[in-house]
Amino acid sequence: MSGTRLILLGAPGVGKGTQAKRLEEFFHLAHISTGDMLRDALREGTPLGLEAKSFMENGELVPDDVIINLVKERLQKEDCKEGFILDGFPRTVMQAEKLDELLEGMTQVIDAVVSIQVSNDEIVERLSKRLVCNACGYVVMPGDGLELGDGCNKCSGEIIRRKDDEPDSIRRRLEVYEEKTSSLIRYYEGRGLLQVVDGVGSMDDIFQRTVETLGLSLEPV
Ligand code: AMP
Repeated sequence: MSGTRLILLGAPGVGKGTQAKRLEEFFHLAHISTGDMLRDALREGTPLGLEAKSFMENGELVPDDVIINLVKERLQKEDCKEGFILDGFPRTVMQAEKLDELLEGMTQVIDAVVSIQVSNDEIVERLSKRLVCNACGYVVMPGDGLELGDGCNKCSGEIIRRKDDEPDSIRRRLEVYEEKTSSLIRYYEGRGLLQVVDGVGSMDDIFQRTVETLGLSLEPV
């Protein structure tokens, strides 16, 4: 499936990252997660990381111009030529408009926008339990048997709770989603690109639903 350009929309904790990774692996699309890029910058202590730190820890959005430049650079990379999945971007109407402009300049378009939907109660439940590796960002799955403070199975990192998965920050992130990001559902609906996927169920079920909604095939070609 080459040349496919997707956006995954949804509040924090709906499983965008997990589904994006699956789509990346299965369909060989570049996975562009602005959250992961910012966390890498934070770990490496780059100027971008330092600028983003307090916004991220407090559950606020990093300023649009910073994010737009980050995505602009990323979209120029070779691996995006065959298609990509945007995960966590755009998050404001301004970012969506800039993305349209950027793609127009590259004679590209977005093919579909998938909005993964989960109730706020379920999101709070999921995020308050979520554990990740502080080095590689791996998200701990139920069968992994890993607990807070354990070593990561994939690298030499430590299993931690993200600062923005603390209760106050989760609440703020959900408010920010309502205030700034949820209007993108109408934005993309108006362009005839929006597909809605129920995000409750196993990761496999949700992947299956996403693939079917997009009209893709899991059969080898
Ligand atoms: P995520 O992993 O996508 O939930 O992102 C974690 C944090 O990174 C967010 O709470 C924001 O502080 C920041 N962030 C990620 N993507 C964006 C974006 N597109 N615009 C602004 N801030 C972002």
